[in-house]
Amino acid sequence: MRLFETPIDRVLAITRTTSLLNVRNRPGVSGEPVGQVDALKMLEVVERVEGDAVSGNDEWYRIAEDAFCWSGGCGELEFLQDGKFRTNPEVRRREDGTITTLSEEEKIRIFGRIEYTSKDNGAIEITNDFRRNLVRIHPPFFPLPPYDASSMFVHVKARPSFQRVFYLLMKHDLARFVKTYDGAFTARHMAWNKSRPLSSHSWGIAVDLNARDNGYGKEPAKEDENGTLLPVLPFFEAEGFAWGGHFKPAAYFDGMHFELARLDI
Ligand SMILES: [Zn+2]
Repeated sequence: MRLFETPIDRVLAITRTTSLLNVRNRPGVSGEPVGQVDALKMLEVVERVEGDAVSGNDEWYRIAEDAFCWSGGCGELEFLQDGKFRTNPEVRRREDGTITTLSEEEKIRIFGRIEYTSKDNGAIEITNDFRRNLVRIHPPFFPLPPYDASSMFVHVKARPSFQRVFYLLMKHDLARFVKTYDGAFTARHMAWNKSRPLSSHSWGIAVDLNARDNGYGKEPAKEDENGTLLPVLPFFEAEGFAWGGHFKPAAYFDGMHFELARLDI
């Protein structure tokens, strides 16, 4: 049984075992055992299949070629796919190849209209039903300081992109570069300034990481500096995220900020 060798575009979801789990060569208790997985280990689910019912639950997960485990011994699925995986996301780029953000019009068209009233501190009160688009995800290397959050809210259409990036960072041992999680969905204006347009955080398509070392209007941390995000940048870009460290002019640098900029979701 060789786990964790499925290409990312074929991994349906990830989950964690909740107890010691037998792995069998077919989806049923009569299947031959081919291995065991300890409690609280991460698994890649390639496919959900119907098998023998155990305690009334007949859902099994295929976790590798000819390797199945009973879903009842696993936690919730964190989906990495929505059927639209593309290895070359459709994005707009600057002349230097870096990815530009979507316009407000595009954000509205792709992710939905937000009706709101503004507060003095730059936050907004959402007055339509936009919030029904938000879903909770549990990145595999959370919780992180400073809030110790174990989950975050993102737009349902952005969920697979966030999940894939976070999972790949963990798989490539790069999650250690993400020191702090400083926010995803937040209903507010850009830079908490109510005279500026809505922040992409309001749509749940942006995340802030390592804020202390990658502050707004400052040069982002370099490769050899504390809090650098350069090792994780290629994974975000491959999924179609624009990076605030590429914003122009330099007064707008926002090195903590990654936002989804795909036109094809
Ligand atoms: Zn941000």
